[in-house]
Amino acid sequence: MLSRSLAVPAQQLRVAFLAALGMAATVGALDGVSALGAWIVEPPAAVTTHQEAAAPPAPELEAPEPPPPAFVFDAPLPGRVIDSPFGLRQLPWEENGRLHQGVDIAAPAGASVKVSADGVIKRTGVSPTYGRFVEVMHKEGMTTLYAHLKAPARGVKKGAYVRRGTTVAFVGNSGRSTGSHLHFEIRKGDKPLNPAFFIGRSFAEAEDMPIRAAGRVSKKVRLAVVSKWPDGVKGAPVARTKSGRVRARIAVSEG
Ligand SMILES: [Zn+2]
Repeated sequence: MLSRSLAVPAQQLRVAFLAALGMAATVGALDGVSALGAWIVEPPAAVTTHQEAAAPPAPELEAPEPPPPAFVFDAPLPGRVIDSPFGLRQLPWEENGRLHQGVDIAAPAGASVKVSADGVIKRTGVSPTYGRFVEVMHKEGMTTLYAHLKAPARGVKKGAYVRRGTTVAFVGNSGRSTGSHLHFEIRKGDKPLNPAFFIGRSFAEAEDMPIRAAGRVSKKVRLAVVSKWPDGVKGAPVARTKSGRVRARIAVSEG
């Protein structure tokens, strides 16, 4: 039965093909013989997709390792909090508010101060206000400063290379200080930046550092609370406007 149904005479097949062609041309689905020919030569899209799906998956391109961040800043006293922020601050014995150019981190005397980022020791010294200090140079004109120290660590001398996390000094109470703490600064050139924008953060490239935001100083003046006044400092009347605002002349404050 099957063999009989397949045995269609050649004449009948030709007629069926021409009839189909005529119908296709009538409905406008195909542009005559050439379009039909093209359809026959090019396999339908569905077949192509199927072949692609069956092909073995292309090996995944190996993503290149991202380069290490250019800048990494750690806390100089890990685990300790900033208890006096960057910004305008008025000390109780001062007449005017002044810019606190860094942050104060309370810690017991002798605690190890870690250098915040890889760098080279720029200088070590003693100042009436900063007390004993260590200044470190980093890439792109960045510097960090560690002040009111008890002492610099052994081997910390101008030109020495220090890796991030290396102990460069010990916490003290030298200079104009009202208790054992670290005064920590970050600068770009001469411009003091808010260290809170950098501590515990890393930046892929120099342009990623928030230099502009970190350099902004709020107009708000904070009245500092201190446990004791430094020796030899006498109280001065605090100049306030009627609204209670501190009349502040912006000046530089070390310490
Ligand atoms: Zn300070």
